[in-house]
Amino acid sequence: MPRNTQVWIDTQAIQHNLACVRSLAPEAKLMAVVKADAYGHRLDLCVPAMADADLLAVATLEEARAIRRLGIDQGIVLLEGVSHINDLGAVEELDLELVVHHEHQLTMIESLGYSPSHRIWIKVDTGMHRLGFSRVAAADAFARLSGLTGLDALCWLSHFAASESDPSFTAEQIQQFDAAVSDFPGEQCLANSGAILTVPDSHRDWVRAGIVLYGVSPLKDKIGTELGLVPAMRVESELIAINDVEAGESIGYGRRFTADQQMKVGVVAIGYGDGYPRAMRDGAPVLVAGQRCALVGRVSMDMITIDLSHVPEARVGDSVTLWGGALPVEEVAQWADTIPYELVCRMTRRVRYNTSL
Ligand SMILES: *Cc1c(COP(=O)(O)O)cnc(C)c1O
Repeated sequence: MPRNTQVWIDTQAIQHNLACVRSLAPEAKLMAVVKADAYGHRLDLCVPAMADADLLAVATLEEARAIRRLGIDQGIVLLEGVSHINDLGAVEELDLELVVHHEHQLTMIESLGYSPSHRIWIKVDTGMHRLGFSRVAAADAFARLSGLTGLDALCWLSHFAASESDPSFTAEQIQQFDAAVSDFPGEQCLANSGAILTVPDSHRDWVRAGIVLYGVSPLKDKIGTELGLVPAMRVESELIAINDVEAGESIGYGRRFTADQQMKVGVVAIGYGDGYPRAMRDGAPVLVAGQRCALVGRVSMDMITIDLSHVPEARVGDSVTLWGGALPVEEVAQWADTIPYELVCRMTRRVRYNTSL
């Protein structure tokens, strides 16, 4: 028997979430963000469920290549473009769409003498201060790119810094964007998940949906199911031991947890070697037989320990849910002082993936 530590991916949930995004932004075309192996949900399982997306978006050339290897010929946008002139050949060969955000990339394309992609997205920095041209440099980029042979369309893109939490800064970013691009032709793309949910004015011609497609909420005070989404990932393992621990005895590395009364402690076959964060605090919830149990003691590489004192029926071999199903990943992430994006992205190669449904 292989070790029973596995991720279940619900591809129907992905289709449902994609339809939700469509109904939230009915006028806009949809760019489905599948970077980082579909936010840890795996490209091979998820991309076939996204056939309805107008474009896919990835961070790296390797991710785009992996999609092509699956035999998928949907359009793909490289959200950061490429950094090396040698990569422009692959852009052409794999039929990718480039984002251009930096002078360095403009120079590279100019030295090639034609556009390696039929559509280029010019990225404008409107306040995120990560990637993108200033207003003046964006106009210059437009002028330099628009004459290139092989180019059918130039489009505009920008990224929000706090669409899920700071509406007034987001409004400022939209103003900056409009000031930079409204005099130019070209389709516009601004909204990430937070903006799709909360800033209709940002929907424009294209929305860029990431985390919502996986059924997870980007908003601090809401979970995916409260937004009508269906979480696509469930992480599951099993109890490999159940032990009695006496009052005053400590559990695990560093003796972080000490029992203050007699306890029944379950050992679950998952640890930071599988992607369950070592930062997880005592009290983090897991589900055993539908009941919430608390993490007790440090997360090891291969195991965690949980309090089973109130689950007398628990047996070795019982399944344990780490997140997903009735246990929202948004809530679990808080116990590791992180965001659900990071939890879903960090499962390691040791974990088996399956599709449910
Ligand atoms: C990751 C990413 C997105 C998607 O963000 P979500 O919050 O997951 O919707 C959109 N645009 C860019 C540029 C990104 O890097």
